[in-house]
Amino acid sequence: MLYKKGFDLIKAYPTEFSEDIVSVRYSGQTEEFRFTFPEKKVEHIIINLCPSEPWALPHWTVIKGNTTNFLQKLEKVRSVYFPDSECRIVVDRGEDDLINDLIRYGKKREWLHTYSMKPIYPYDAPVLMIKNVLGLKTSFGENTIEHGVLLLEPQSLIGIYEHYILKKDNTVRLIPVSGTGLIENRILKVKTGTPVETVLKKYIRTDIKYRVFFDGPLNGIEVEDLTQSIDWFVKSIVVMEERDYKTPLHFMKSKELHFTTSLMGELRRCVYCNFCDNICPVDLEPALYWHSYSRGEKHKARNYALEKCIECGLCSFICPSKLELLHIIKECKSAC
Ligand code: SF4
Ligand code: SF4
Repeated sequence: MLYKKGFDLIKAYPTEFSEDIVSVRYSGQTEEFRFTFPEKKVEHIIINLCPSEPWALPHWTVIKGNTTNFLQKLEKVRSVYFPDSECRIVVDRGEDDLINDLIRYGKKREWLHTYSMKPIYPYDAPVLMIKNVLGLKTSFGENTIEHGVLLLEPQSLIGIYEHYILKKDNTVRLIPVSGTGLIENRILKVKTGTPVETVLKKYIRTDIKYRVFFDGPLNGIEVEDLTQSIDWFVKSIVVMEERDYKTPLHFMKSKELHFTTSLMGELRRCVYCNFCDNICPVDLEPALYWHSYSRGEKHKARNYALEKCIECGLCSFICPSKLELLHIIKECKSAC
C-alpha cells in the first residue's frame, strides 16, 4: 500500500537548509523570552529531536555539534525546575552518533532515557508521541500537563536555561523558512516582534502568487496579513507557490498532487479511493465526515469517532479530489 498510516514527508519532500544561520535586521519593539512553568508537578519531560515535518527546525541548530553541552543544559534545567522528573529524548533511529552520545551521557543518569523512532508524519504529534513513548492515552487538544507530561521544545529548553538560569536577555528565535515560494530555504535568527514581511523580504519570489503558513501547510495557520509579528509560538514559516489554474493530468503527477491538494480551485467529488482511510494515523475514515458534511448533517460526524481526530491534515493532503477534509472536520467538531 502506498499510503499506510502516516506519511514519510521528509523522504517525499527533502528540504535542505544552509548551515549558515542569518540574522534578520529589525529595530522595532521585541518581546523577551518567557516560559509558563506548570503549577502541576512534572513527572515526565519529552524533548523531540526527531521532527517529522521537512519544514521543522533541524535539531543541529540547537545542539550545535555538542550533544554533551545540550544535555548539561537539560540537566541543569531539570534539577532547578523539574526535580524528580524523568526525561525522554526522542531521536531519529537512523542517527547512530546522536543515539550513542545520549546513551553514553545517560549511563550514570537514571532519569535520562533515549527513545528512537522513524520520522513519519505525524508520529511526533502529542497524542501519538505520548502514547508511543510513555504508553499513556491522552486526547487531542488536552493539556498534557494534566498527565504530568511536559513536551519541551528544544529551543524552549535553551531559552529557559539562558533566560532564567543565566539571566541573559533573549528576544531571538530561530525560524526555518522554506517552500516553493522562496528563492532559497534558510534558518533565520528572528527577533520576536519582527513582521513576517520583514523576515521573508530577501527570500520571497516576486514572480509568483504565494501563500504563507506558520508551522506548515498541512495543519498550520495561514498568514493572511504579512505585517503580523513573529512571537514565541511560531515554529516555522512555509511559503508555497499558489496556482489558480488546473493542472492537466494531475493524477500523473503524484509529487505535485500531494502539495497542491486543497490549494487550487479544482473541486471534485469524493471518488471513494480510500486514500484518506489508509493514511489516517488514528484509523479514522475521513470520507465519512465529508459525506455527513455535504449532506448538511455535521452532527452525524460524531458517530464516526470524530473526537479521535488529531487534526494532522494528512487526509486533506492526500485526497485526490482536493476535498478540504481537515477544514470540514473542524467545522463538524465545532457543530457537535
Ligand atoms: S481524520 Fe484527522 S487524524 Fe485522520 S488523517 Fe484526517 S486530520 Fe489526520
Ligand atoms: S481521499 Fe478524498 S476522494 Fe478519496 S475517499 Fe477520501 S475523501 Fe474520498
